[in-house]
Amino acid sequence: MQAEIVTIGTELLLGKIVDTNAAYIARQLATIGLDLYYKTTVGDNEGRITSVLQQALARSDVVITSGGLGPTVDDVTRQAVAKAAGRELVLDEKLLAQIEARFAKHGFTMSENNRRQAYIPQGATPIENPVGTAPAFIVETEQGLIISLPGVPRELKHLMETRVIPFLRDKLHTGQVIIKSKTLRTCGIGESTVDSRIGDLMHSSNPTVGLAAHPGQTDIRITAKAENEAQADRLIAEMEEKLRERLGDVIYGVEEQKLEDVVAAMIAERDLSIAVVETNTQGLIARRLESASRDRPILRAGYVVSRPEDVAKIAGPLQPIVERHGLISAQVATATAEHLRETTEADMGLAVFGSMGERQGLFAESTGETYIALSTAKGTTQRAYKYGGTGELVQSWVSNAALDTVRRSLLKTRGGT
Ligand code: ATP
Repeated sequence: MQAEIVTIGTELLLGKIVDTNAAYIARQLATIGLDLYYKTTVGDNEGRITSVLQQALARSDVVITSGGLGPTVDDVTRQAVAKAAGRELVLDEKLLAQIEARFAKHGFTMSENNRRQAYIPQGATPIENPVGTAPAFIVETEQGLIISLPGVPRELKHLMETRVIPFLRDKLHTGQVIIKSKTLRTCGIGESTVDSRIGDLMHSSNPTVGLAAHPGQTDIRITAKAENEAQADRLIAEMEEKLRERLGDVIYGVEEQKLEDVVAAMIAERDLSIAVVETNTQGLIARRLESASRDRPILRAGYVVSRPEDVAKIAGPLQPIVERHGLISAQVATATAEHLRETTEADMGLAVFGSMGERQGLFAESTGETYIALSTAKGTTQRAYKYGGTGELVQSWVSNAALDTVRRSLLKTRGGT
C-alpha cells in the first residue's frame, strides 16, 4: 500500500506560508509504515486540483489532502474531490447539525457560507472536526482512498492523530508496524567512495540504506520496517554486519557519536595524552578534543600559529626548516609534531599546517593545501591533503581528517602508542 500527499493552497505556491502540513503528514505515515512516494502542492483552482487528484488516484492507494475545506468560494477541495472520485456533492444532514451546534455553542450565528461545509462527495464518510468548523471526510473509490483534511495545522494534526492514523492502521491489516533506524558514522572516505562500496546494498527495500554527506564524514542510515522491535533490530543487525564487512574501520561510530568523542575516549582508555599545533583550523581540533574530554583531560597543549615567526615560539630550533621549506610544508609539519611531543611530554604530537589563503577552500578559486603529521613513540607519519583555507567547510573537513589520523593510529594499538 502506498500513499501520497496533496497540499492545497495558493498561499503555499506563493511561498507565503511554509508547507509544514506535508512534512507532518509524512512523519505520521512513517510511524505506521505506509510508504509515501509523491507529494504535490496545488493552488486553489478546482480544475487543477481535480487533475492532480486523478493522477494521484491512478498511482497511489491513499491520497491525503490538506486545505481548501473552508466556507469561502476559493475553498474548492470538496468539489474537486467529488469530481476526481466521480461523485456528486451532497448535503450531509448530520454534518450540518454538527456545524450548527458548534456555532450555537460559541454563540455565533452560522452564515449561509458555512452550509457549504456540510456538503461532501456522495458516499463519503464524514470525519467530525471537534477543534474547528471545517469537517473532514474519507472517500473510498475503486481506485483508492481520498482523505481530505483541513489546512489549519492544529486541526489537521488532531484529526490525523485521533482519526486518520487509527483508520489507516486498520486498513493496513498489519497491526502495529514499527520503523526503526540506526546511523553508522564514517570518516576519511568520500560519499562517492562509500556509494561505490555499498551501492548494491542501497537498493534494498527493507531495511533501506541511505547516505548523508557532511564535510569529511558520511552517515549511513539503516531503516527497517517490522511488526515488532526485535524483528526490526534483527533486520538492522544483518544489514549492519554487511556494511561493516565492506567498510571496515571507516566506520568510527554510531548514532550521535561525534568523531572527537570517539578519539578522546580512545586516547583516555589507553591512558595517553596529546599535544596539538594547528594553523588554518584556528584551534578547532584542540577545542573539539578538549570539549570531548572534560572528565579525563587528554590535551597536554594546544597551539594556534599563523605566521612563520610564531613557530619559533613553540618550536625554536625549527626556524631553519621553516625558512627552507616555508611554514606550510610537509617538513615543518613533521618536525613540529616531533618537537611538540618531546617538549610537552605528550604521547602524541599532532601538527596540522594548512594554507590560510582567503580565497582557498573546497569549492573556491584555488584549493590550497594542508599537511597533517602525527608523531608517536612508534614514529612519525605525515600526509598531504589538497585542501586549505580558513572557511568553515575546510576547517570542518581538515579537523575531521586530523582526528581520523589519530584514530587510525590508535586502532593499530591497544596498549601504548
Ligand atoms: P479553514 O476553513 O479552517 O480555514 P481550510 O481547510 O480551508 O480550513 P485553508 O484555508 O487552506 O484551510 O488554510 C487555512 C490556514 O491553514 C492557512 O491560512 C494557513 O495558515 C494554514 N495552512 C494551510 N495549509 C497549510 C500547509 N500545507 N502547511 C501549513 N499551514 C497550512
